[in-house]
Amino acid sequence: MTDSKLSIGDSAPRARILIVDDEPVNIHVLSEALQGAYELRFATSGAQAIKLLESYLPDLILLDVVMPESDGFQTLAAIQGTPGAADVPVIFVTAMSEMADEEKGFALGAVDYIIKPISAPIVRARVRTHLQLKRQRDLLERSALLDGLTNIANRRSFDQALSRRWRFAQRQGIGITLLLLDIDHFKQYNDHYGHGAGDDCLRRVAQALDQAFTRGEDLVARYGGEEFALILAADDSARQAERVLRVVSELQIEHLHSSAAQHVSASVGAKSFQQLGELDTERALREVDELLYRAKQSGRNRCALQKQGFTEIEIIR
Ligand SMILES: [Mg+2]
Repeated sequence: MTDSKLSIGDSAPRARILIVDDEPVNIHVLSEALQGAYELRFATSGAQAIKLLESYLPDLILLDVVMPESDGFQTLAAIQGTPGAADVPVIFVTAMSEMADEEKGFALGAVDYIIKPISAPIVRARVRTHLQLKRQRDLLERSALLDGLTNIANRRSFDQALSRRWRFAQRQGIGITLLLLDIDHFKQYNDHYGHGAGDDCLRRVAQALDQAFTRGEDLVARYGGEEFALILAADDSARQAERVLRVVSELQIEHLHSSAAQHVSASVGAKSFQQLGELDTERALREVDELLYRAKQSGRNRCALQKQGFTEIEIIR
């Protein structure tokens, strides 16, 4: 899941299942049982499975216990150590005689067992159950990162993404731009147009920003009441600030009780951070918040922008 584009309710693509077994005949039997309903991939050794997981993320793994070289238990441990794959549910496939190891498998984190010889209806039922559980879990995780009103990333999602982006940018030696945006005189908007209209206004601003900033590294989040936060690549921060202001004003949402404009407008604080030091996102956000304050102080419907290393603050309208 990329964190910039979150959505729920999309029609689900076919679930992906990875079957790992050293004996092709077992792979054949399992894939016969699951044919048609799922996207299936195969590996005939633990090492091959781990290699595949670097570029392919399944929803479920069926893992043979007895394999030469790396057995099922070792392979499971390796799966859990593979970034991205650590949470993929694993069902062990094992012969009755190996059942003594059942406890060990569960202790290691397998979600279930399937006993050989394979019964197709049992395989299908177990697979269906665990895929359903995983879908529900994924959905919960995603909705925990979404803002309920606007359906864009929420503050928790933003905070997580910011730490991640900061570290990434630091490693790559690139910069990032942070923006905080406040809708001007939103209290007056609510007072005069009602809370329903206020909610609608927030949704429209959120969607417009989310649709305007869609590059992989862009993130738009609802940060609080009428406050939004953006993480953007640090290229031309002045142009980005201008664009944010324009996206909001071009919605032309009437706001006759604002001293800043005739329509809904925003104040923005923006700062581009280069050569990132130790992770100090809290301080970075505080600095951007101070710039947002400057934008409001100097009349709203504008952006106060500062480039790292410069004391000068540009006001962009
Ligand atoms: Mg085997």
